[in-house]
Amino acid sequence: MDSTQLHVAIMSSPGIGHLIPVLVLGNRLATHHNIKITILTITTNSSSPEIEFLKKFNEKKTIQIIPVPSIDISHLIDSNTKLFTQLRILVREALPEIRSGIASMNHRLVALIVDIFGTQILPIAEEFNIPKYVFHPTNAWSLALFMYQQVLDQEIESEYVDLKQPLEIPGCKALRPDDVMDPMMDRSDQQYHEYLKLALEYTCFDGILTNTWEELEEETIKALRSNEKLRSVSRCPIYPIGPLRRTVDITEHDEVIHWLDKQNQKSILYVSFGSGGTLSSEQIIELAWGLELSQHKFVWVVRPPSDNGTDSAYLNSNENDTGGSLEYLPKGFLTRTKDMGLVVPMWAQQVEILSHLSVGGFISHCGWNSTIESLTSGVPMIAWPLHAEQKMNSTMLTEELGVAIRPMILPTKKLVKREEIQEMVRILMHTKEEKSIRENVKKLKLSAENALSEGGLSYNTMCEFVKNIRTS
Ligand code: UDP
Repeated sequence: MDSTQLHVAIMSSPGIGHLIPVLVLGNRLATHHNIKITILTITTNSSSPEIEFLKKFNEKKTIQIIPVPSIDISHLIDSNTKLFTQLRILVREALPEIRSGIASMNHRLVALIVDIFGTQILPIAEEFNIPKYVFHPTNAWSLALFMYQQVLDQEIESEYVDLKQPLEIPGCKALRPDDVMDPMMDRSDQQYHEYLKLALEYTCFDGILTNTWEELEEETIKALRSNEKLRSVSRCPIYPIGPLRRTVDITEHDEVIHWLDKQNQKSILYVSFGSGGTLSSEQIIELAWGLELSQHKFVWVVRPPSDNGTDSAYLNSNENDTGGSLEYLPKGFLTRTKDMGLVVPMWAQQVEILSHLSVGGFISHCGWNSTIESLTSGVPMIAWPLHAEQKMNSTMLTEELGVAIRPMILPTKKLVKREEIQEMVRILMHTKEEKSIRENVKKLKLSAENALSEGGLSYNTMCEFVKNIRTS
């Protein structure tokens, strides 16, 4: 490290879905802005899939990585503890270790960036007098919701999900009660209280970086910067620097890519529910039948079913896990579809798959990383939200951006039947409606490229952020 080089530490929350955008951010700051980056990442379990992922991602050693082993929190949770609460507790328990990591750094940090669950770091940042920033790894709509949450909490007395009217958030499309984030679904649950604290912590940072871009969410970004109701909660600068996503690794040519190489352009439907999303056994069977009946070619990343509707697989996802036998698929499915599709247990090279010319559609759980990977590859979607803010993302993709279609009833409420799946696949991959969706996604792909290229708005915003930390 030369003496003029700035040093920034970024903390990532447990889970690959959190780690990926942090790595991409760190990589961009290091390679485009000559900043020394140290990433403190909380690993989740003994097999530490994140560590394996990190090694591959950071082969060139562009960034320094400090893995922080997670502490056993089993005595602090029970079978009812929701994922959101678990993540908050995991980070809270890791704070002493993180503090030691920061204290032992030789070079002064000009900024400490934390992602969504890392906001509990505030007292440490203050103790060491380091400017502190949040990296909100998703969109401006959910950011505005976070910023406005204290107001909603005071103004609304009932359960949000029981409201007859949508929730009004300044500068945003109204939020349907059905679409609220998981932690808002039950105000008596511990996760709601953790969520309220998190939303309050967001307002105490020196700035917020968000993985979106102006052209995608112009009104909302404008409101975050200038709407008096939102500014009265926090006046911190907002930096839309996205869409940041992992770049295609051309050395990652596994058998899926070789199979895709042999297919026609835009002929393949890719199906995946993120780094830990699981479906019920019944839903997996309907999905398998829907794909088979559609007679459309597919690549499907499968994970064993979770019948209690939990999202705990998220913290236990492991890219090396083989996923066991595939006996939860309908009898004979693999044989009948052997020339039609590939079933990939547990984990696939998603960015490489979505960027492949043969891929023409994506059944997605609408996690924000998957969403931007799809948009920046020009691939339209069937939106199938499961957890977190994914229902909001799904509404944005279908109703605002016109780049996706979705089931009539939310998959979290009702089983999506094979006939509906078959029909959605037909619409997305074949019909006229698909054409306008494809046009819209093409435009967004272009606007994303423009935003990130030299002189583009996200590029300039990142430069402004770097200038601000340089002079702070
Ligand atoms: N991912 C992948 N292969 C898989 C599943 C997921 O590479 O089989 C990556 C995906 O490309 C994305 C991330 O894991 O970058 C998932 O993040 P997202 O925000 O979409 O969902 P989450 O896992 O957080 O629910």
